[in-house]
Amino acid sequence: MIHRLPLFFDIKRYALHDGPNIRTTVFFKGCPLRCIWCHNPEGISCEIEVVTVQERCIGCQECVDGCPEEALRWDSDAIIRNDQRCSLCLNCVEICPTLAHEAVGYRASTDEIIGEIVKDRPFFDQSGGGVTFSGGEPLAQAGPLIELLKRCGELEMHRSVDTSGHVETSTLLEVASHTDLFLFDLKHMDSKLHEKFTGVGNELILANLKTLSKNVTRVRIRFPLVATVNDSEENIEAMGRFLSDLGTIEHVDLLAYHDLAGSKYKKLGQPDLTDKDYSLGSESISRTKRLLEAHGLTVHLEK
Ligand code: SF4
Ligand code: SF4
Repeated sequence: MIHRLPLFFDIKRYALHDGPNIRTTVFFKGCPLRCIWCHNPEGISCEIEVVTVQERCIGCQECVDGCPEEALRWDSDAIIRNDQRCSLCLNCVEICPTLAHEAVGYRASTDEIIGEIVKDRPFFDQSGGGVTFSGGEPLAQAGPLIELLKRCGELEMHRSVDTSGHVETSTLLEVASHTDLFLFDLKHMDSKLHEKFTGVGNELILANLKTLSKNVTRVRIRFPLVATVNDSEENIEAMGRFLSDLGTIEHVDLLAYHDLAGSKYKKLGQPDLTDKDYSLGSESISRTKRLLEAHGLTVHLEK
């Protein structure tokens, strides 16, 4: 049986918004949700992807000759890939002299990822920061995630996990036993609307959050505030009541939507789901903060 290494799409250093103090954020690739406002579309697919930046292409056609699957062709002024034929061998990525083809995602061993994380140890020690595992959905690759969490624990690093909560409860609790802080995304309190905007209902997510809040692990909520999606007073009030009843939430990070992902969708050749303006004015953001605070919650505004 072939065991493939886990799949990642990025490691971000000196992150200031992914948990306490200075963090190194490791992004797992692959997510079961399809949020229409997703800022990290490169984290959705659970396979490596190959993209072509046409602006970099000089038309030499070396990639066409070097593709073993005849998946590439030159069409007057652009390189066209037949995704059905492409075997993801990455030859074109290596061949292209102008780096027009790019691989999105890479497989890496636990040792390799730990090797990257420990480089930032001095920043963790000075600031009280640590490592954050994000995605995509890190719990979708729970085995490698737990291995990484254990190794970071042995190295006495602070460990945060950013999750959508859409995962089997037993898996979540196993991850929780190796996690110091959860950053738990809460997107909508109405299950039908949650499914409309993310592709899945919220029953499992809310049940998991209830279970986690009774656990000893610390939990912060991340609420991505998206105009016309989840900014209604009804939704915010329902969220305030639910979180207040849990009684153990550290605070709520309010993440106002910013239109930053359009170029990423273009590069991936995917329809830009964020082409509608989902951003909110400062008054709407302040109103949301006040409504949640009225339920006794501490709310932080994230830029
Ligand atoms: S090898 Fe690179 S520059 Fe040459 S045709 Fe292919 S994509 Fe364009
Ligand atoms: S990844 Fe391999 S198979 Fe796919 S287009 Fe590039 S060279 Fe061809």
